[in-house]
Amino acid sequence: AAAGLDVHVVEAAEELGGGARNSEPLLAGLIQDHCAAVHPMAAGSPYFADLDLPESPWRLPEIDCAHPLDDGDVVLLRRSVDDTAVGLGDDGWRWRAMFGPSSRSFAALSEDILRPLVGIPRHPLLLARFGAVAALPPVWTARAFAQERTRALFLGVAAHAFQRLDLPLVGGIGAGIITAGHAVGWPVVAGGTGSLTSAVIDRLTARGVTFETGRRVRSRRDLPPHDVAMLDVHPHAVAEILGGSLPRRTAAAFRRFRPGPAAFKVEFAVAGGVPWRAEETGRAGTVHLAGSPQEITAAERDVVEGRMPERPFVLVGQQ
Ligand SMILES: Cc1cc2nc3c(=O)[nH]c(=O)nc-3n(C[C@H](O)[C@H](O)[C@H](O)COP(=O)(O)OP(=O)(O)OC[C@H]3O[C@@H](n4cnc5c(N)ncnc54)[C@H](O)[C@@H]3O)c2cc1C
Repeated sequence: AAAGLDVHVVEAAEELGGGARNSEPLLAGLIQDHCAAVHPMAAGSPYFADLDLPESPWRLPEIDCAHPLDDGDVVLLRRSVDDTAVGLGDDGWRWRAMFGPSSRSFAALSEDILRPLVGIPRHPLLLARFGAVAALPPVWTARAFAQERTRALFLGVAAHAFQRLDLPLVGGIGAGIITAGHAVGWPVVAGGTGSLTSAVIDRLTARGVTFETGRRVRSRRDLPPHDVAMLDVHPHAVAEILGGSLPRRTAAAFRRFRPGPAAFKVEFAVAGGVPWRAEETGRAGTVHLAGSPQEITAAERDVVEGRMPERPFVLVGQQ
């Protein structure tokens, strides 16, 4: 739309936003995020900086992320890389070395990591440094830390990939959100993620984009006349929609795509906060109830292999 093209959006649900909207409130006056709640990558994204919103939508917690352990200890991911390093004792210097330089250059780095990794990177040296953490299996990177508690903190963030943690390239998500967090924090959105989506929709509407809800696209014939169709849907849906017009091997590749594990989400309305054992946990926007490095690695492996873990990785949002 910014380039002057006419854009029309077709959405199957009655409401726009997909996973990035507010859900039906549990109690009157309570705002809940339907899926996406905490936004280190969005807060660091040039897209939102260019959106020119009337006021900043981001609200930062005092502590970005807490990882409580069974013995009552809690490991903290703070916005400042130095403050985080202090809390990590002997591992602090390594945490600072791993994430300090990338987070200080996050604005430049995000130009490369928030777009498809094809073509020539704009900042190859920065990307190479970041890639050293992103490319290695997280369990290997974790071995760089001497203490179990630091390894637990790192692997808890790496587990956002919903993948086995002993595979290469799985570290990209964790490295991305730790680096973005040290640059901009792990904020939530004032008024819920849905209000950010509404702001985006307003901006797009002002640029002439039109939206249609309640219409599921099942085949190409369902689309209005167009020059270019961009299908931002599941690969299986692409195979269904484009059907016979795709080369056979391409269609088969879309059909073969294996979705990652599902997430199960529960919403609680809590009066007065959660009575955590370690008091700092209550001041964190995100809490990883994930246990030791071994427990995190085993739980992620179980999920990916289709078994229900004894102690699943639980990600708590305390918006
Ligand atoms: C429980 C949960 C918590 C999460 N928490 C976070 C978080 O804290 N931070 C974060 O950054 N991310 C989070 N995410 C991930 C985030 O929600 C997704 O990455 C994001 O919503 C993906 O956006 P999308 O537009 O690609 O897909 P979606 O949000 O899934 O949107 C796809 C849209 O396409 C529509 N559609 C599908 N098929 C058709 C069709 N055939 N015709 C027309 N319309 C169709 C759907 O109705 C939907 O509205 C979370 C996800 C889950 C499930």
